[in-house]
Amino acid sequence: MQTKVIKFGGSSLADAEQFRKVAAIVKADPARRYVVASAPGKRSGEDEKVTDMLYLCHTLASQHESYEAVFSKIEARYREIIAGLELAYSLDEEFQKIRAAIDKQTTPDYLASRGEYLNSLVLAKFLGFAFIDAASGVFFNEDGTFDDRHTYKALSALLSAETYAVIPGFYGSLPNGSIKTFSRGGSDITGSIVARAANAAIYENWTDVSGMLMADPRIVNNPRVIPEITYRELRELAYMGATVMHEEAIFPVREARIPINIRNTNAPSDPGTMIVSQSDTIPEDTIITGVAGRLGFSSITIEKDRMNTEVGFGRKVLGVLEHYGVSFEHVPTGIDTMSVIASTASITPNRDAIVGRIFRDTSADSVTVEGSMALIAVVGRGMVSAKGTAGRVCTALADSGVNIRMIDQGSGEHNILLGVDEKDYAAALNAIYEEFVHES
Ligand code: ASP
Repeated sequence: MQTKVIKFGGSSLADAEQFRKVAAIVKADPARRYVVASAPGKRSGEDEKVTDMLYLCHTLASQHESYEAVFSKIEARYREIIAGLELAYSLDEEFQKIRAAIDKQTTPDYLASRGEYLNSLVLAKFLGFAFIDAASGVFFNEDGTFDDRHTYKALSALLSAETYAVIPGFYGSLPNGSIKTFSRGGSDITGSIVARAANAAIYENWTDVSGMLMADPRIVNNPRVIPEITYRELRELAYMGATVMHEEAIFPVREARIPINIRNTNAPSDPGTMIVSQSDTIPEDTIITGVAGRLGFSSITIEKDRMNTEVGFGRKVLGVLEHYGVSFEHVPTGIDTMSVIASTASITPNRDAIVGRIFRDTSADSVTVEGSMALIAVVGRGMVSAKGTAGRVCTALADSGVNIRMIDQGSGEHNILLGVDEKDYAAALNAIYEEFVHES
C-alpha cells in the first residue's frame, strides 16, 4: 500500500468540529497512514493558541506568579474537544504531570511541546490510531541542530511497527532526553521528517488556505492559487516573504524527492498546491509562477573610475560589510559602479562608519546610500523558454508610473529581481500580476 503522511495545522485541530473534518479527510483514503498534529490553534480572530498559552504559563511560573488561570483555560480547551467528540477519555493524569513539571521549573520547550502531545493523544483516540511520541523518534544534537541519522533510523523503525499512527509535531528530544522544540510553526518540519522516514509517496500539509497564492492577497485582489511549484521556485518566493509553511520544512522531503501537497481542511475537494522537485508543466495562460516582495532595503552605491580593471575591488567592499555584520542580498554591478543591497535595519546602526570605511579601503570617487527600497522577485520556470519576459515586466511598470531602481535576471533565468521605491511597491506588484495573469 502507498503511504501518505498527512499533517494538520493548529486551525485544522482547533475544536471538535475541526477534528471531525480531519477524521473525515484521514478516513477518506486508507493510504493516509501517518498523521502529524499541531496544538489547537485559534478558533476565531480573538482566540488564543494553546501553544501561546503554554509559553505564558512558563513565563508566569518563572516570575513566581500564578499560572493557574491560564492553565485552566488550556485544560478547558481539551476537555471541550473531548466532550464534543463524545470520547470516553480523560487527560486528567496528563494535566497533573504537566502541573508538577511546571512547579519543578520545567523548560519552556517541554511546556510548549505539550500542546501537540495532548492534541495527538486525543486525535489518536478519536481515529483509533496508535500514538507515537515524537520524543522517542525525533532527535536533536547537543547543540540543538536536528540529528537526521539518529532520527530516520529510530523513526522508520517506530513507523513500520504501526499501520496507522498519530505523531505530535513541533518537538523531539535532546541527547539527555529532555524535550526540545523546533522554532514556531515547526510541526510542518515534523511532518516533512515523518514523510521522509516513512518513505511516503506524498506529504500532505493541511491548513486553512487552498494552497499557495500567486501574490500577496493583502496587495493583489483575489490572486490565483498556484497549482504546481518547484522546490526551487518556492524557496525564492518564500525568501521574499511568501509563505504557506515553515521554510525549513521543505528540506527533508526535498532530498527524498517527495512532493508536498498544500490542502485546505475547510475545502477538502480543492486540489491545493503541489510542491515538486521538477515540473515540465507550465500553466497555459501564464508563464510566471508567482510574484513576491519585501520592504526595508537600502542600496550602497560605490563609483570609481576604472573600477572594472581593479582586481579585488568587490572583496574590499564586501569585507567592510562583513566587518559590520551586514549580510548582503544582492550586488548589481556596472562598469565603474557597484551597488550592494542589504536590509536597511542592518545598515542603519553603522551607516556612517560603513561609508567611511568603504571610502578608505577602496579610494572610491563616491559612496552613496539610498534607503526605502522594496525588492520584488518575479519567479517562474516558464520564463526560461519565453522570450521578452523582462521587457514585459519593465513595460508594465513604466505604464503604471513605477520607476525601476534595479533589475537583474537570475542566470538560471527563472527569476527576475527588481528594486523599486517602497511607495511604489503595491502598484508594482499589481502591475506585474496583471501583466502576466489574465482572468478568463
Ligand atoms: N504549535 C506550534 C506553534 O504554534 C507549532 C505548530 O503549530 O506548528 O508554533
